[in-house]
Amino acid sequence: MRKTTNHLADGRSIFYFDLDASAPRVKADQRNLADVTAAQGSMRYDLLTGDWVAIAGHRQQRIFHPNIDQCPLCPTNADRESEIPESDYSVVVFENRFPSFSQASSGSSITQTPSWGSEQVATGRCEVITYSPLHDVSLAQLNQAEMGLVISAWIDRSAELSQLTDVNYVFIFENRGAEVGVTLHHPHGQIYAYPFIPTYVEKLLSQAKEYRNLHQRSMLDDVVAKELLADERIIFQDNSWVAFVPHAARWPYEIQLHPLRNITSLTELNEREFESLAGFLPRLIKSLDNLFDSPLPYMAGWVQAPSNSPEAVVDSRLFFRLVSVQRSEAKLKYLAGSESLMGAWISDVLPEDAAGHIRTEFQKLAVS
Ligand SMILES: [Zn+2]
Repeated sequence: MRKTTNHLADGRSIFYFDLDASAPRVKADQRNLADVTAAQGSMRYDLLTGDWVAIAGHRQQRIFHPNIDQCPLCPTNADRESEIPESDYSVVVFENRFPSFSQASSGSSITQTPSWGSEQVATGRCEVITYSPLHDVSLAQLNQAEMGLVISAWIDRSAELSQLTDVNYVFIFENRGAEVGVTLHHPHGQIYAYPFIPTYVEKLLSQAKEYRNLHQRSMLDDVVAKELLADERIIFQDNSWVAFVPHAARWPYEIQLHPLRNITSLTELNEREFESLAGFLPRLIKSLDNLFDSPLPYMAGWVQAPSNSPEAVVDSRLFFRLVSVQRSEAKLKYLAGSESLMGAWISDVLPEDAAGHIRTEFQKLAVS
């Protein structure tokens, strides 16, 4: 794998990841773009929950459902100057032009004693990762080598962004489908480097710490072992990974994918885990698409250990979460009053049934 670093017209970084080390990656961005630092979001402290809320009003200007001939993630050609100056590419990562968190005010670290009215610059970083130069594919269509290149880019960004000062958590994720608010159709994911530990992870770590105090064991190790032992919701298992629908799934279709080995970050994947993941992840996504014979709208991302928090590593463990709002061919799950206002989830699908449906579709797809 070769990584080439370049810069866009407004100074943002762009990284090309290639399997073919001879591919030229030298084209300059010819566009006339306003300075990236002009747009800056803020974040405000919610005293009622202890959460930080990013307020990114400048993101309202971003491109919304462009036609393919205006796609900012397709390669540049004679008729279209996109975010990617090259006329071809494999996998590309670049800084988001409309970031919710940006490095413009790096150094202004987060206040440790926030109170009502606390507001500060949303420091951090937001990047976009495009999985393919082709506009109409998805992770499901990538072969093992192409998927491996995406994973290599994930690992590279995890390692680099977690080293930034002000960054407490690197989140690699994908929203897919207009149903979950995706504004660009081109196959891509995102990487957020937050200046705080997000609520989900903070709560997970607090549960894990309490579990450790009670049982002197890792909560996530035990959850994986218990799901394997129960063997009721497992979709797929090999020598390195297990995928299952969690016992208390909230979403109609929800998957957790865990390495069998306790590791805390994508950067710790060994060769066997890497190759296995690159082989079956596209197949897993394809089996989801086959549930209702159309691309399943989903939100998916990696849970890793926080950055710059050595004390949190002991209770962390790497895993991948994927959740879908689709509950039947024609019906979506909406986060209504109980979920949105109270955080009390009501699920309409039995987790064991969901696991059975996905497992059936997964098994139908022969390993290529
Ligand atoms: Zn495109």
